[in-house]
Amino acid sequence: MFFHFTFTYMLIQYLEPIYNFCRGQVEDHSYYHMFDRAVADYLPRDARTDVLIPKILIAALLGYLGMGLFCTFLDLILIHCNLRHVKKQGEKSFFTISEWLLAVRVSLRNIVLLNWVVSLPILHLWRTLYGIENMLGEDDEWNWQRELPRFAICVVVIETVFYWTHWLLHFPYLYKRIHKMHHTFTAPIAVAAPYAHPIEFLFGNLAGVILGLALANPHPWTAYYWVCYAIVTTCGSHSGYECFGCRGHDLHHEKFTVNFGVAKITDILMGTDYESSDFYKKDMQTKTE
Ligand SMILES: [Zn+2]
Ligand SMILES: [Zn+2]
Repeated sequence: MFFHFTFTYMLIQYLEPIYNFCRGQVEDHSYYHMFDRAVADYLPRDARTDVLIPKILIAALLGYLGMGLFCTFLDLILIHCNLRHVKKQGEKSFFTISEWLLAVRVSLRNIVLLNWVVSLPILHLWRTLYGIENMLGEDDEWNWQRELPRFAICVVVIETVFYWTHWLLHFPYLYKRIHKMHHTFTAPIAVAAPYAHPIEFLFGNLAGVILGLALANPHPWTAYYWVCYAIVTTCGSHSGYECFGCRGHDLHHEKFTVNFGVAKITDILMGTDYESSDFYKKDMQTKTE
């Protein structure tokens, strides 16, 4: 039933604007009627907040494709100019064409086809927590004094959810069945950031990004920006370029048991940061020798 509902809602969200556009009737909602009965019991329709999920998806796609393709372009320049050593793990930080295609295919499957499984229930939670009437619409004024603390809540939520789900995924039982897929690449590139098992992508990555929105109740434009920012920085942390913040997470892919979080703070608090590990001491020793 849940998947039936999710699929039906996905159809409405994707097809309705296209259908109306083709008919030249942008305001006509008659297309809903055949789906209404199936959906209404689970998620009340509301024109103002219904746009959130498709637009959040567009923001995520723009972030992924923008950063992913930009870093791929940089990789090609480095290959062309024989400057592969510039990347964090040098020669290793480059994909073959088939690896690149695999990473993009799995990432797009996760972002476009699977996101509904988590984003719909969390939007429902958002509406339940605050009530539709207390959620801001795109037409409402955007005010940074109000939005900044809400953005900060999103940062705290993703750091907490990502750290602990990621830490759990490194337990042998879960690692073998779920997280090993994301660790296929020991020297990842930007387009491989969302390359993960569906369970990991939905509950370890996406849920943490969207849950912050449900808890903080930000303006829709803050929500779009946050989702785009989250995926751009995730691609950056997998890019192999230190200037895009790859250092911490690249070390995680290289060493496996350090740097589980996003913002480093939880790693420092829990003693799982690279600098507190034996790897660091060994690497320092090798450098001085
Ligand atoms: Zn990773
Ligand atoms: Zn990991």
